[in-house]
Amino acid sequence: MSQEGNMRRVTAIKNGTVIDHVPAGKALSVLKMLGIEGDMSNPVSLVMNVPSKKMGGKDIIKVEDRELNQSELDKLALVAPDASVAIIRAYSVAEKMEINLTEEVVNVARCTFSNCITVNPREPLPHRLVVTSRDPLELRCRYCGKTQDIDGLIDNLL
Ligand SMILES: [Zn+2]
Repeated sequence: MSQEGNMRRVTAIKNGTVIDHVPAGKALSVLKMLGIEGDMSNPVSLVMNVPSKKMGGKDIIKVEDRELNQSELDKLALVAPDASVAIIRAYSVAEKMEINLTEEVVNVARCTFSNCITVNPREPLPHRLVVTSRDPLELRCRYCGKTQDIDGLIDNLL
């Protein structure tokens, strides 16, 4: 499948954000991380499992009439660190953005270990996960030191 072929799969949007090169099957996790649920007013187009030369398969997400900001995009580092993001205005790419994986992911997801101090409501601490490896992605809780299960973190998004 050529690049143009992939582009034709999704209708061009006038204004909004396109998130491309999402790992195949992760589009729904991405939407969850962005707080985009079924009841929002903006139209969202999803294409899943598109053949990709670079990745084998990928998902593409188009959110109309909403420009995602850098801090929203940085949350995606947990599920789609290599996604490419374009802000669309008047049917053309106005800005390209990159997802940054910082050394510490703060207040994005809660530690998956049930005995962690951060689970205690009487200890209101920021949720801090330290990135110990980028490829494959590995995070440890700043407080209890446990290595986190990435899928578990997606269920524990704040
Ligand atoms: Zn912990």
